[in-house]
Amino acid sequence: MFDSLLIANRGEIACRIIRTAKLMGLRCISVYSDADAAARHVEMADVAYRLGPAPAGESYLKIDAVLEAARLSGAQAVHPGYGFLSENARFAEACADAGLVFVGPPVEAIRAMGSKSEAKAIMGRAGVPLVPGYHGQDQDPALLAKEAGQIGYPVLIKASSGGGGKGMRRVDRPEDFAAALEGAQREAQAAFGESRVLIEKYLTKPRHIELQVFADSQGNAVHLFERDCSIQRRHQKVIEEAPAPGMTEQRRAEMGRAAVDAAMAIDYAGAGTVEFIAEGDAFYFMEMNTRLQVEHPVTEMITGLDLVEWQLRVAAGEPLPKRQEELSIRGHAMEARVYAEDPDRDFLPAVGRIAHLLPPRESERVRIDSGIRSGDEVSVHYDPMIAKLIVWGEDRERARQELHRALDSYEVVGPTTNLAFLSRLVGHPGFAAAELDTGFIPRHEESLFPPAEEPGPAIVALACLAELLRGEALAEARAAASSDPYSPFHATNGWRLNMETRRELRFRRGGEEIAATLHYRASGYEIEVDDARLKVSGRALDETTIFAEIDGWRSQVRAVWQGAQLTLLLPGRQFSFQLVEPLADLDAGDEVSGSMTAPMPGKVIQVKAAVGQKAARGAALMVLEAMKMEHTISAPGDGRIVAVHYGEGDLVDEGAVLLEFEVEEVSDDAA
Ligand code: ADP
Repeated sequence: MFDSLLIANRGEIACRIIRTAKLMGLRCISVYSDADAAARHVEMADVAYRLGPAPAGESYLKIDAVLEAARLSGAQAVHPGYGFLSENARFAEACADAGLVFVGPPVEAIRAMGSKSEAKAIMGRAGVPLVPGYHGQDQDPALLAKEAGQIGYPVLIKASSGGGGKGMRRVDRPEDFAAALEGAQREAQAAFGESRVLIEKYLTKPRHIELQVFADSQGNAVHLFERDCSIQRRHQKVIEEAPAPGMTEQRRAEMGRAAVDAAMAIDYAGAGTVEFIAEGDAFYFMEMNTRLQVEHPVTEMITGLDLVEWQLRVAAGEPLPKRQEELSIRGHAMEARVYAEDPDRDFLPAVGRIAHLLPPRESERVRIDSGIRSGDEVSVHYDPMIAKLIVWGEDRERARQELHRALDSYEVVGPTTNLAFLSRLVGHPGFAAAELDTGFIPRHEESLFPPAEEPGPAIVALACLAELLRGEALAEARAAASSDPYSPFHATNGWRLNMETRRELRFRRGGEEIAATLHYRASGYEIEVDDARLKVSGRALDETTIFAEIDGWRSQVRAVWQGAQLTLLLPGRQFSFQLVEPLADLDAGDEVSGSMTAPMPGKVIQVKAAVGQKAARGAALMVLEAMKMEHTISAPGDGRIVAVHYGEGDLVDEGAVLLEFEVEEVSDDAA
């Protein structure tokens, strides 16, 4: 066995590989781009090397830079992870030329499976069943149209070198074929530098079932059962599980044999996945991925094996650790891909700093693979995955319940995530009944994408409580730092010298403003929202946790502040509020004058202030759009604008100085 390993990847997969490599006593070498200099995969490694600037094309995809890092670090082996260079035959070859062990299949196998057309030709010859279709060399549009007609509509046009659902077009009618072909070719050319396509019969209610295979360099091959990845959005996996619901022993054996035959047909070695599309009793070869898959943990959970360990052993020339008859399935596993994305905006990727992150506790049943920590940035440069949440249960229903619970307790504040969507998906009766096919999400669109829940009076009251408790904490901190900690001027609980016991709080949500009136009573607060009057009391348990009692309802609630934005987290629900007049609670004085900074990275969408202009306390000076919400930067007191540093349309980093403001009339809140 080699004793050092360079991981040519980032994020959760790099961390996951390092975990096993360390257990096996290997020295781990990470590589990173400028955006990842302080990333978790860098921290976990024994040593890390810089590849280049943030864009993948200038860092993680640069073969020369990766090889140079291997040379400098004295690495003996390279694990490519998934994505990036993992299925790049040139990279595998370059590693071999540099005398490095490539933890992956032989170069020829990567090459053979690199083209979907090529792969189908090889699999067809090996007797593996194929979706009826055309995967020939001749790309004459007239011929392709004729083939499509023979296959029978609907058909699917696929980029030969495709991946990630790109360059794929479903065509329902012959008259749409020519335009769809052009679109697919254009997309393929742009994404893969090659426009070749193939045509398949479009299956209307298929399942995606894939077989995990493993082979060694001594000619042994096994399969590690199947995964069902039918829950997809736009041809991309959302939830994966193993084993596939409804799979019979006989069918598993048949599909397993086809998968092992596929691996044997290309003299495979290492981990691979043979993807099938299945409808009714039929299953057809779709493609083979010559690497470790994102969803490999579900296979690990049901087999009790470590697939990265197998990969490393096989790469070192050892035989497969187990024979087929020594492998068995225990229980059921599911994986959900937790993404920074907005399901309500067609799954648009979201970016930004993770202000608060609290995953469910890991156990025998719950596993989290992640490369992100609280405070990290989800950037535009890479896949916006936050984590993979993997659960295990004795049977499918136990696993499903476990996943549902884990999703509901997963706390992420910062960029929009798909957590609530995943929770609805896993809680859907159709999913519980395992009515799986690739059309599940579009079919249940109405229940999976309900209108956003508006906060009721109790939630608004919670927001008020959070603000009150924050004010108290601020006052305490200020009092502790002041020369007269017992001065009544530090109090913020409503007991002001002028006996003012009423306070108005205003929040903004989307375009709406919510107002609440707080009355201070000896027993706590009474909060008026709309027509409701609620009795509210509570205390801060730590920086982000409050204990709240609202009209007899008692609960612990997470309340996370980012500047003037408050996010309340309740099991499976999340509400964000923008406190209006965010700086109104600050003491007057030099804290108020000065620079005003961006609470989070975003875009300036409106500038309402000009240099020299006077503004009254609370007047809107600038509007930022960040994390899909608008944030108003308002005047902290009555005063004058000294400088405006950004214009409309500018992108700003968190902490960027937006404006400078001079308070002219000192307004002392406490007097
Ligand atoms: P990619 O490599 O771009 O991910 P795949 O060939 O793996 O493309 O297919 C991705 C997904 O597209 C499949 O999981 C399935 O949902 C859908 N798909 C692929 N082929 C067909 C087909 N012939 N009929 C219906 N759906 C298909």
